[in-house]
Amino acid sequence: MTLPAVTVAQTPEDKFREYLASRSRPQRYTDQQRDLVRYVFAQHNHFDAENLIDELKRAGLRVSRATVYRTLNKLVDAGLLRRLELGQRTYFEHDYGYPQHEHLVCERCNRIIEFQSPALDAQLREVCSAHQFQSNGHTLIVRGTCADCNRAKTPKRRLDLI
Ligand SMILES: [Zn+2]
Ligand SMILES: [Zn+2]
Repeated sequence: MTLPAVTVAQTPEDKFREYLASRSRPQRYTDQQRDLVRYVFAQHNHFDAENLIDELKRAGLRVSRATVYRTLNKLVDAGLLRRLELGQRTYFEHDYGYPQHEHLVCERCNRIIEFQSPALDAQLREVCSAHQFQSNGHTLIVRGTCADCNRAKTPKRRLDLI
């Protein structure tokens, strides 16, 4: 399930290139970084660095492990990706061009369900304003069991067997 994308002025690639050039010591946009950025922004996903390393390999792209880790950190710093801390693992997902949303995480099958809640956003704005707090965003993760796993867990009721 993917939420509708948000219209943005620049492509992720242009925005990343601009970020690299704006560093106090400007950095080159390498071919490996380009392959990674194009791959990551081709579809919305929640992934960790190890998933990505495997997928890039399967896609026939040669991006070194060190480059994957370094580039993911830069993409977060550039505002293109954001981190999601789930248990012991750090996941990444699109921040740029993707709407604010929250997550339900199933602890049995690891499914991640995204949802949006204008009521929750309004509530958080109110809380921040009461504290004169300037928010740079938030991450809400609700842990539990998804509908499929709940069904699998519940034994058939007697009535269903008649
Ligand atoms: Zn589940
Ligand atoms: Zn998400």
